[in-house]
Amino acid sequence: METSFEERWTAVQARINSACGRCGRDPSCITLVAVSKTRGPEEIAEAADCGLIVFGESKVQEAEAKIPRCPGQITWHLIGHLQRNKVRRAVRVFDMIHSVDSVLLLESVEAACAELGKIMPIFVEVNVSGEPAKFGVNPDDLQDLLESTVNCPHIEVRGLMTMPPWSDDPEKARGHFRELAGLKTRCETEWGFPLADLSMGMSHDFEVAIEEGATYIRVGTDLFGPRRG
Ligand SMILES: *Cc1c(COP(=O)(O)O)cnc(C)c1O
Repeated sequence: METSFEERWTAVQARINSACGRCGRDPSCITLVAVSKTRGPEEIAEAADCGLIVFGESKVQEAEAKIPRCPGQITWHLIGHLQRNKVRRAVRVFDMIHSVDSVLLLESVEAACAELGKIMPIFVEVNVSGEPAKFGVNPDDLQDLLESTVNCPHIEVRGLMTMPPWSDDPEKARGHFRELAGLKTRCETEWGFPLADLSMGMSHDFEVAIEEGATYIRVGTDLFGPRRG
């Protein structure tokens, strides 16, 4: 039998609460980003009716088409890879960007936001696994990237984001999440860049991410059901 959005959301909330319980964290410190890529405005409106307000999209073009047809109170986060030629469009429609992974991209976002007079909160995406096919800055280049943000008055660095290699076993992601949390500590203690947030964890591994310190989790499938296509 098909479950309703509300049932799936209740189940996700219960999982967030028990993960927080296991590690003594307050569930109100976790922001749930409802990943709505491939979902239509009706599904998004249903989720918004349940009280969700933060939604994540991975493509600029899809978001541009969808956002005007969705409830106005929604906050839109770009979670997918951002190409530099789409930055000006991205900064118009998104309220936060989770995927800044190079100095060049950072400078493009700064320039586009300066033009608009908008301050953009961002995450720096880090490739902690070192997989060559993955997006994200190499941990060795993170300090340089953070230092470049000093010249970016229209950018507010909120934290670090990662996407570990896919695995059926959520425990396989733990080491990667821990490494991202360790980098966040180094940002503060060694490099003088205290950061507030960690964006990590998806449908199948967000409990592990919460145990390792996630403050933003990005959940699609377990909220909306399996993606078609
Ligand atoms: C699609 C996507 C998610 C959500 O994945 P689910 O497994 O459906 O929860 C999270 N983060 C990013 C960057 C994604 O592209």
